[in-house]
Amino acid sequence: MPELPEVEITARRLDAALRGARVESALAPGMNVMKTFEPPLEALVGRELARVRRVGKMPVVELGDLALLIHLMSAGRLRLFDKRASPKDRASRVLVRLEDGRELRLREFGTKQRAWAKLLPTDAVDDDESVARLGPQAWPAPPLDVFARLIDLPRHLHPLLRHQADISGIGRSWVDEILWEAKLSPFRKGSELTPEEVERLHAALHVLGDAIDHYEETIPEQLPDKVPMPLKIHKREGQPCPRCGTTIEAVYFSEHQTNYCPEEQTGGRVLKDRRLSRLLK
Ligand SMILES: [Zn+2]
Repeated sequence: MPELPEVEITARRLDAALRGARVESALAPGMNVMKTFEPPLEALVGRELARVRRVGKMPVVELGDLALLIHLMSAGRLRLFDKRASPKDRASRVLVRLEDGRELRLREFGTKQRAWAKLLPTDAVDDDESVARLGPQAWPAPPLDVFARLIDLPRHLHPLLRHQADISGIGRSWVDEILWEAKLSPFRKGSELTPEEVERLHAALHVLGDAIDHYEETIPEQLPDKVPMPLKIHKREGQPCPRCGTTIEAVYFSEHQTNYCPEEQTGGRVLKDRRLSRLLK
């Protein structure tokens, strides 16, 4: 599930590999993937790839005055291949074929087709509603006073930090890592934090930068399909907390889970399984 650090390294690697490459053809085998129709994808033919950047969790591929804004959702991947996709590759959503034989491919795994792309004027990307609605980026972290205002909301930290309109870039994996780093419960409310806790949470955003540094060292120029994430706590239920040795617990929701160290984050309390408590209501 690509979040800010994963999309950042994807954009960096693709930017280095693609600058100056020219488009031979572009097509969208994913029937519902394109959210814009004018200009058509064919407008990319003959254009040079100028830059790949990231906004929130979205890669942006710039080709002169047109840009592809891509939302990977949970199962999309953007990768450069040396050869063209087989027409049988059912994961293909958008294919940008380059004159040198390589192919930039948006693929999506799993059964749900949720990833999308928009072809927009480059200078209109930041005004697109999917970008304009984003809160300040979680990395580099906003100044402490700005961050303190952003999270001063009566909502649990777990959804609050993932709410892209408040602060952008954090998803279900890194939120657990940030909260563990800050030694805060996922069920504390933003508006209930003491100034000292806000400061701790703000400081904990460094885990995003650390992850990017880790990827810079470990990920080759040619991006693999799956990037092993340097997670310490997310989906590590049953394992010892790397800091204090207490068994890591989990709270499960219908589509995701949160992991935490009871000793350091919830005052020793093991939280109820939300799935179970819903069933018992
Ligand atoms: Zn611990």
